[in-house]
Amino acid sequence: MNMTGENTHIYLDHNATSPLAPCVLEEMNNVWRSTAANPSSQHAPGRQARKWIESAREEVIQILGGSTSSMAADNLLFTSGGTEANNLALTGFSDQYDVLLLSRLEHPSIIAVAEAMASENRHQVRWIKANQNGEIDLDDATSHLKDLAAQEKRVFVTCMLANNETGVVQPVVELAALARKTCGNTGCIIHSDATQAVGKIPVSLRELDVDLISFAGHKFHGPVGVGGLLMRVGLKPRPQLLGGFQQGALRPGTESVAIAVGMAKALNWWSSESAERKIRLTTLRDRLETKLQQQLPELVVNGGQTLRLPHATNISVTGIDRQQLVMALDFAGVACSSGSACASGSSEPSSVLQAMGLPKPIIDAAIRLSVGAFTTEAEIDEAVEKIVACVKRLRGR
Ligand code: PLP
Repeated sequence: MNMTGENTHIYLDHNATSPLAPCVLEEMNNVWRSTAANPSSQHAPGRQARKWIESAREEVIQILGGSTSSMAADNLLFTSGGTEANNLALTGFSDQYDVLLLSRLEHPSIIAVAEAMASENRHQVRWIKANQNGEIDLDDATSHLKDLAAQEKRVFVTCMLANNETGVVQPVVELAALARKTCGNTGCIIHSDATQAVGKIPVSLRELDVDLISFAGHKFHGPVGVGGLLMRVGLKPRPQLLGGFQQGALRPGTESVAIAVGMAKALNWWSSESAERKIRLTTLRDRLETKLQQQLPELVVNGGQTLRLPHATNISVTGIDRQQLVMALDFAGVACSSGSACASGSSEPSSVLQAMGLPKPIIDAAIRLSVGAFTTEAEIDEAVEKIVACVKRLRGR
């Protein structure tokens, strides 16, 4: 986009954020036009706003495989996005566990909390190893869990559902089953950061058999500034914000009705065409990888040997500096990144690729490309030409 709002770039950075879908904008505009009421107000406009937000909450819970039955309803707290949901999960339950178990594949909004906990000696923090495919090592997880169960420790297990840099889908079902079998239902709380997975692949609280799920609307063509923490019935975090009664006082503050409605709409839209969208995104991503590999045979796909999200790829052409390539592509009109959005722009090598144990030349060259619901085949073909031209220019041939 330039200053007048025209599209100047082929946008291949959907893992960072995704453009708002027109149907979502329309839904939000309806809400914004219709009322300025606070959903906690008792008058009729307030009650209408409450209806909207509660039906958005219910819709999201249902699509994410939670229960809305009045006998055992799971709960959804609207947050400002994935970072807040992750912080609320790890910190809000911290007086209900002794040990935090996770891997270095996690997003910085998880890693930073773990590191703060470790440095303040508040909790023991244990790290699960990752393999070269970019998945957690389940054998290593098993030995940690057995050891912790033998010590009767209460464990908080957190494992992302899909990685933000490689798109690799993690064995969360297997990990959750292991944790429950080893530590018992009361000995563990299981959280999954599904921020990259929601709106890309089916995500179900009950089928994954986890207790908590984090996600963010802007990753699936919904609005920025809203996300959620879905919680299994009965679970209650210690609030991190104080002074209000909204959302059961667990996450107080006036709810933004329009953006919550917008997120529900984006998820509903994905859900209504999920199978077809998955095929479309996979076809585009595979076209990108195949055409690049035809012209750059030395190109490697990091995490490409295992199950990945349909829309993302992480590639390295060794000898090319990732920062230079991202900048050259920006100049050529292709938007992509060299790692997670918050880390890009810095020259830090990817901690995810390091955790996978990949060689330095691969890490130094790695860039991330991700397509979205509005990406076209023509854009992919043009992007391939530009990427190949930039790589050749940076190589000096
Ligand atoms: N978790 C993962 C896996 C992510 O990819 C991101 C964002 O890139 C986040 C959490 C943070 O989400 P947000 O930017 O909405 O705070």
